[in-house]
Formats: sequence, C-alpha cells, structure tokens
Amino acid sequence: MRTIFLFLLAIFMVSCGMENKINENNKISKPLPIRDIVIVNTIDSLKLKFQTPDIERIEMGVRQVADFWTSEDGTDEDFQNFCIENFINDKDELDSAFVTIQKNFEVLNGHFNKISLALKFKQHIDEGEMNPLDLMFGGYEPSSNLQSDLFKNKIAFYILLNFPHYSLDEKNTIGDNWTARQWAYARVGDLFSSRVPADLSLEFGDLNNKCDNYIANYNIYMGNIIDNKTNAKFPEDMKLISHWNLRDEIKSNYNAENGLNKQKMIYTIMKRIINQEIPENVINNKDLKWDPAENKVFQNDKEIQFKPEPDTRYQYMIDNFKMLSAMDKYNPFYQTYIDRKFKEEMEMPFEEVEKIFIELLSSEQSKKIGELIEKRLGRKLEPFDIWYDGFKSRSTISDEHLTKLTSSKYKDNIAFQNDLPNILVKLGFTKEKAMYLADKIVVDASRGAGHAWGAQMKGEKAHLRSRIGKNGMDYKGYNIALHEFGHNVEQTFSLYNVPEYMISGVPNTAFTEAMAFLFQQRDMKVLGLANTNEETEYLHTLDSYWSAFEIMGVSLVDMYAWKWLYDNPNANAKELKENVIRISKEVWNKYYAPIFNSKDEEILGIYSHMISYPLYLAAYPIGHLIEFQLEQNLKDKPFGAEIERMTTIGRVTPKDWMKKAVSNELSPKPLIEMAKKSIEYFSNK
Ligand SMILES: [Zn+2]
Repeated sequence: MRTIFLFLLAIFMVSCGMENKINENNKISKPLPIRDIVIVNTIDSLKLKFQTPDIERIEMGVRQVADFWTSEDGTDEDFQNFCIENFINDKDELDSAFVTIQKNFEVLNGHFNKISLALKFKQHIDEGEMNPLDLMFGGYEPSSNLQSDLFKNKIAFYILLNFPHYSLDEKNTIGDNWTARQWAYARVGDLFSSRVPADLSLEFGDLNNKCDNYIANYNIYMGNIIDNKTNAKFPEDMKLISHWNLRDEIKSNYNAENGLNKQKMIYTIMKRIINQEIPENVINNKDLKWDPAENKVFQNDKEIQFKPEPDTRYQYMIDNFKMLSAMDKYNPFYQTYIDRKFKEEMEMPFEEVEKIFIELLSSEQSKKIGELIEKRLGRKLEPFDIWYDGFKSRSTISDEHLTKLTSSKYKDNIAFQNDLPNILVKLGFTKEKAMYLADKIVVDASRGAGHAWGAQMKGEKAHLRSRIGKNGMDYKGYNIALHEFGHNVEQTFSLYNVPEYMISGVPNTAFTEAMAFLFQQRDMKVLGLANTNEETEYLHTLDSYWSAFEIMGVSLVDMYAWKWLYDNPNANAKELKENVIRISKEVWNKYYAPIFNSKDEEILGIYSHMISYPLYLAAYPIGHLIEFQLEQNLKDKPFGAEIERMTTIGRVTPKDWMKKAVSNELSPKPLIEMAKKSIEYFSNK
C-alpha cells in the first residue's frame, strides 16, 4: 500500500516539475494544431507508400488524427511519422487490428465496470452502516483517466488513423446494408470523438454538482402556503420539490377534497418559479408563510418585504451553455452541444425529433382526447390538465392485497433470485432460455428504489437491485423489480448474444427504457392475476398518448431554448428568462391553446431537467413511442423469442434498429391510430 502511494506521489511530482518548466520558458503555453501543409504532405507520402493505396481511408484517417493532434502530442515530424508507420492499407491486417481493439475494449470496459460495481457496493447494497469512507470510494471513477491515457499512449490516434468516423447521415444511408462486422468497424470509428481538456471537464463537473444541488434543494413548504380566496390547504409537513413533486401533487388531487383549488394554487406557484417572481426567502424555508396569489410573505403573521429570486434558474442555464459550448472546439465531429445530444448520443437529428413531436402534438386526436378529458372531469380544461392521470387502469385488487402476495412470495433477494426462471417462463420464454438468462443475473437488496446494472464483458453477471423491506418485497417494489429485470434481460442478451462486442447494447437510453417497460407492464400476468381486457388496452393507449402529448411540448421548449442560446451566445439570465417564457407561450399557443382554450400559458417551462440535464427531456417521449411500437409488434408473437430477437440486433442507429425490430420507422402514427380507436370506444360508452 505504502509503495503504491509513494509511486503515485513521484509521478505527481514529476508532472508538476514539468509544468513549471514549461511555464518558465513560456514556450509551449498553448498546444497548437497541426498545420494544413503537414497534413497534405503526410497524405501524399502515404499514397506513395503503397502500390494500391486506399486513398479515401488515407485522407480521412490522416485528417482525423490531425483533428485531435496538438503540439503536446509531438512535432509535425512526429505526426507525419506516426501516420506513415501506422496506417494499415491491407484489409486482412485491418481486420486483425479490429479484433485486437474489440477484444481489448471488452477487457477495459468490463474490468473498469467490475471495479466500479465493487467500490459502490456499500453505497448501493442494503448491508450494514455506511460511513464517509464508503462514499469516498463509491464516488471514485476508476476509468476517469482512460480517455486521456489512450490519447497519450497513441492508441486513440491509431484508431482515428485507421477507422473512419461515419456521420449519422452516412450510418443511416450506407449503413443500411452493413453486416454486424461493418457496424462494429463503424463503432470503433465512434470511440474517439472528443478530447475535452481535463480542467474544463472538472469545471463542468463542479457546475453539474451546483445545478443538482440547486434543484435538489428547491423545496416549497406547502404547509406554509396561504390561500385566502379558496382556502386550499395542504398538510402541515408537506414539502414539495420543484417540479417533480409539484406536478405529482397536481396529479393526485384529481379526486381530492377541494382538489381543483389546490391544483390551481400549485400552478400559481409554478408560474412564480418560471417567471422568477418567487420570493427568494421562501425557497426551502419552513419559517416563512407565503401567499402565492398575492405574492406576499409573512413572518410571525406580519407581512415582510422580500426580494424575488434573482433569475438564478436561468443563470444556471446560461452557465451550462457557456461551459458546454466551450467544449465545442474539442469535438470536431459534433461541433455543438445540440448535435452531440441528438446526432451523437441519441442518433436522431434534432429536426427529425421535432417533426415526430409536432406530428403527434398537432394530430386531431389530441383535441379529441382533450374533449374526452373534459367530459370525464365535468369541467373545462385547465392548463395543468396536461398532467391528467385518469387514464391509468387501476387494478381492481387493492395494493394491500397485492403486497400480501408479493411479500410472502419474496421474503428476501434470494427468494426473488430463485424465482427468476419461473418469472421468465410465465412471460413466455422457453425453460432453456429462462435458465440461460437467470444464470447471468444476480439479485441484490438495494438501499435505494432499485436499479439494473449490466455487465460490460462476457463472463460477468448483470445485477438486479431491488428494495426489499424487513417484511419482504411490497407490491411497489415488485413492480419496479420487474422493470429492472427487463433491463437485465436486455443487458444480458445484448452483451452475450450480439454478434460483435463493439455493437453490444441498444441504440440509446429510450430503447432500454422501452424494453424495461414491456416487462413492468406484465407484472400482474406474472402474479397470475392478468385481467387485460379491451378496456385496459384502450386506457393504456390514452394514457401513453397524453403523457407523450405533455412531455413533447416540454421537450420542444428545452430544444428551442438551446437553439436560441446558440443564436444569442452573449445573452444574460434576464434575456434568457424572457425568451424561455416567450418560447413556452409560443409552443403552448400553437399546439395546446386550441385544446385548452386559454392562451399564453408558460406551464411548459417548469421542468427542472432544463437546469440539471439539458436536452435530456426528448428521450422520454421517444421512449413512449418505441414502447408502443414494440408492444404492437409483440401482439401476435411469442414474447420470449421476440425479446431475444430484438435485443440481439445490437447498437445500430435507431432508424436501422426499428426497421430490423418492427419492420417500420420510429413514428407516432401507430399510437395516433390506436388512440383514434380508443376514443371511439369511450365515446360510445
Ligand atoms: Zn429504467
């Protein structure tokens, strides 16, 4: 232990020494890019080196290396020599390089993942007291230096030189006919798309923490809310975090006493937050009373002066923009954060996602569902009815009864583990496949609500983390456990049974979630209580539609706000605020106002994701649509075999995956069509 520590200290001292020297001489203060003339010379030399040079790959490869090479990596001559010595012109040689890369990335990812799992064990698993040291180890990310190491030892440059990076457009067109091996080559070409300096990454990490903290402490003490007009009263000890709890409280007041007035009050609070008129001192403060309608603050029943929150919400968005756009120049393939989110991460272009959302938002079924909700509520729609949740098909069996069932069945994680093969057989997997899967999944009792942590190399197991109380697994825990189990099955098939390691997985997080929901939806069936009839399906359709309808508008606001930021890079928080509000109202007026009969509502700007997870929101509605299309496809097919077929397609683009999985494009049409049928069913009732 001591020797290791000394060794690390020595390295640290050496690197400090070097930096001082550089600063002293002031020669290499900033790394310089490779000059164009050097690139051209290198390409020419390589063309001469081979009898039948692969000209296209030579040009692309050398330019890719130049995109990332700086004077810190070596001189012009070093660059040229590196390219000439390491470019592979021969196909068989290239394939053997690919095999080495693929094998070693499985080794790296697999082992780093294994270390992370082990270091976070105390943090995740419900076993004994946790102390600060456990948290310190849990927070350590063992692979955090991997990328920069691979640039330093030139492996990254070797890959950039020999494996072209294909744009999303190219993947979606020429990728059509690619074999699994060709896809795997393309994924190697995706490995190094960014080289953000460590200090910038660290700074962004810091900002991220601050944003998380700001959001995590944005609580409203509802017991302190005064409403003189309608007497909407909330429980004394109720503390709601914005926006999640505020939104869910609106949902849970549909059948409550004085519910409508309470919902209206919550919406008033939301508007004060969006407009930043909320008194700064009522946020996360249980000592002051607040009348949101009049916007007055009271201490010991005496009105006091206050300052509104100083646009902090929007300042964080500006800070995020500044930091993320500062990274643009270190991402030669995706030069804006918008492109990195949509084209690189999601692999769906911004415009395509926007088009899909608008198609559903402006479909006439949206208006018809709105009318149906009005009928069910017996009143005109209010803006917050975007969160109407009366289409949830509630079981006729009480939660209590269900908990009795699940907790006696699953007293601990071992009991659930032992039942995995049974569950799979009930879902429609063959006995053989059920054993195969169950053998690769471990069930642990988790501290939190639960999660699924997949393996990253063959030979390792996926972990299903589920909360199991002293009295066994309650129904809610069981329902979540089935969701996580769905993730585990996907993780296992898509690691073990995909033809090439480089394409293990599914296209993006929306696909993983869709898979998990397919399992979660079948929780009653597994308990032997399935009561799916026509009506449940129709209700489920309307519920999916209305959730998609809500979150698509919210996502559009997030997306348009980022477009505006890129067009106005020097904007301040006040200007951003005005424009987010303007965008929220515009999206509302275009797609919601015709249904809700009210104009200029800013409700779509309330989501906290805009501050903490910029541009993440669009993944939710895409997930809804995928789930719906997968569900439709499963209707007349054996569940187990279909899940296996779909999860072994691998990580191709969403477009290609959908074609292979359901012979169709990702589209809102199936949901819109089915919604039409559902509306007809309920109108005739
Ligand atoms: Zn999930």
